[in-house]
Amino acid sequence: MAVPETPPGECPQCWQHAHDRSAHRHLKPREDCPQCVDHMVNGHPYIVPKTSSGWW
Ligand SMILES: [Zn+2]
Ligand SMILES: [Zn+2]
Repeated sequence: MAVPETPPGECPQCWQHAHDRSAHRHLKPREDCPQCVDHMVNGHPYIVPKTSSGWW
């Protein structure tokens, strides 16, 4: 299943994990995804920059 391209302002990893179920398929039921937990605790290391909106 194709994951839609990460929109501006979103974290690519979290977007990927939110839309691609296979990203968490290896986890046991109720097991936390270390990568998602890391982003929730420490924040997102990278956010897709907003482009073309408001440039002049
Ligand atoms: Zn993230
Ligand atoms: Zn995840």
